[in-house]
Amino acid sequence: MINWVSVQVFEKRRVFFLKAAVDKEKCTGCGQCVDICAVEAIQLVDDIAVVSDECIECGACVDECPNGAISLD
Ligand code: SF4
Ligand code: SF4
Repeated sequence: MINWVSVQVFEKRRVFFLKAAVDKEKCTGCGQCVDICAVEAIQLVDDIAVVSDECIECGACVDECPNGAISLD
């Protein structure tokens, strides 16, 4: 059975290449976003969160970040 939500998310990413964005000035490298991401799309690089293209823009990390460092464009 086709999961239309996944299809729509895929289409959105394919067309617009959207993903969560990290404000490097606000990120403290706490790692909470890494832990909350269900698709493991965030890694810490030099203590700054970096979002990969695996991001499905669920918004969980935006809510989780204590410093308001992540946004969805
Ligand atoms: S939760 Fe926020 S401050 Fe913590 S690592 Fe992620 S982006 Fe940085
Ligand atoms: S928006 Fe969701 S999928 Fe994307 S990095 Fe944040 S928690 Fe992971």
